[in-house]
Amino acid sequence: MIFGFSPDSPQCSRAGCTADARSSVVWRNPRIHGPERRKVWLACDEHAPYLREFLTSRAFPVTVVDGVVDGSGIELPEVSA
Ligand SMILES: [Zn+2]
Repeated sequence: MIFGFSPDSPQCSRAGCTADARSSVVWRNPRIHGPERRKVWLACDEHAPYLREFLTSRAFPVTVVDGVVDGSGIELPEVSA
């Protein structure tokens, strides 16, 4: 696991949530991001499923990994456009 791209405790990306991030929601938007592009939302235990569902409902490839990562080297599932 990778820690340390921020000196502070990383927080959940969900609006209004200040819980510590426990996992990373890695995704991309096939319409605007190239195949190697990765976006990362950090999530607490409570909101990781919510954020994943939010992206899945938009047909974006998404995967959730434990810990805080920058998304590099993370394989995303193929999603047919
Ligand atoms: Zn949260």
